[in-house]
Amino acid sequence: MSAASRLLGRLPPYPFLALEQQARSIGRGAPLLRFGIGDPDLPPPAALADAARAAMRAPDGNRYSSSRGEGALRTAFARYFERRFGVRVDPESEVCVLVGSKEGLAALPRALLDPGDSVLVPDPGYPAYENAVRLGRLRPRALPLEPGRGWLPEWERAPAGAGLVYLNYPNNPTGAVATLDDLRPSVDHARDHDLWIAYDNAYSELTFSGAPAPSLLEIPAARERTVEFHSLSKTLGIPGWRLGFAVGPAAAIRALVELKSHSDSGAPTPLQRAAASYLDRFHGGHWPAQVRRSIAEYGRRLDRLARGLTLAGFPARRPSGTLYLWQSAPEGDGARFAEELLARHRVLVTPGAAFGHAGRPYVRWAVTSPRSAIDAAIGRLGTRRRGTSRT
Ligand code: PMP
Repeated sequence: MSAASRLLGRLPPYPFLALEQQARSIGRGAPLLRFGIGDPDLPPPAALADAARAAMRAPDGNRYSSSRGEGALRTAFARYFERRFGVRVDPESEVCVLVGSKEGLAALPRALLDPGDSVLVPDPGYPAYENAVRLGRLRPRALPLEPGRGWLPEWERAPAGAGLVYLNYPNNPTGAVATLDDLRPSVDHARDHDLWIAYDNAYSELTFSGAPAPSLLEIPAARERTVEFHSLSKTLGIPGWRLGFAVGPAAAIRALVELKSHSDSGAPTPLQRAAASYLDRFHGGHWPAQVRRSIAEYGRRLDRLARGLTLAGFPARRPSGTLYLWQSAPEGDGARFAEELLARHRVLVTPGAAFGHAGRPYVRWAVTSPRSAIDAAIGRLGTRRRGTSRT
């Protein structure tokens, strides 16, 4: 009897698990500085944590939720959506709570397509897309993103015949933010080729240049074929609470909820209720001060990291959004640079190949460690730089 299916056996390990294993294997030495997985380290807003504690004690907080999610949270998401993007959605039929957005992103192709159908997966891109597609017995096809054009899809090189495309802006791993004008050609392509769009907006609130990230649903022509995904993990610093939501056409949301009903019974009831009450604090286009401070702190870390790396002789640019700095590696070899950073400096970054073939010349730094860790990493790199000659 085999302990794993052939399908599972054919998948590479999830990159961040592999990275953790590698980190554990490096032995004793100076403290490991972690810039691998994008796991927000700043605490959730105090009022949200207080609301969760109270909701946990409520007499019926122990009961099952549902695969569609608590009505109060769907209503809060819909209200946030209108306040933030000016787009009205029906909380009853067009919104679904997710056990983190990864869960919904992984489920959507199985809800809408059939085994053997093709799905376009951005290269580079968040690794969960491709693996979920394979596990659904669907076929991933690489959609090249163009570095010279803000990492937007290169539609001229897109494989034909797919049923769905994943798009993600603000983008992991590149940090690129797309405007509505940037996104219009994608909507046109999807309409012309009858594609569903899974629009991953998990980093919608993490932008640093003053320009907020839009929703794809602000483009009217996108609405009939887009399911958009949002996450509270990064916005509110609660990755471990597992809360996100999907918004899209009623028929697609119905299919997603139906699929979910066979495998999950909803996110934790008290956490949904706490998030519902907190989301109402998004007002007049603003989050409460603690949320704004956390977002600004990630921006400051990215600035500091980009400046420090550049001064140490490893040129880097601050991204427009997300928690990630996407850096060209010396000699265009991301795997070697990541290995060197870990083995010589005990600095953990993700080799770009974890995000697809096109990621090979890069590494990704996640700024989910404090500024002191950034300074320490730059210090270690600077020491190496002064001790050798690479130029
Ligand atoms: N989309 C992207 C692009 C991500 O980087 C992540 C997490 N790193 C997610 C979705 C999933 O986030 P969550 O499941 O915590 O909502």
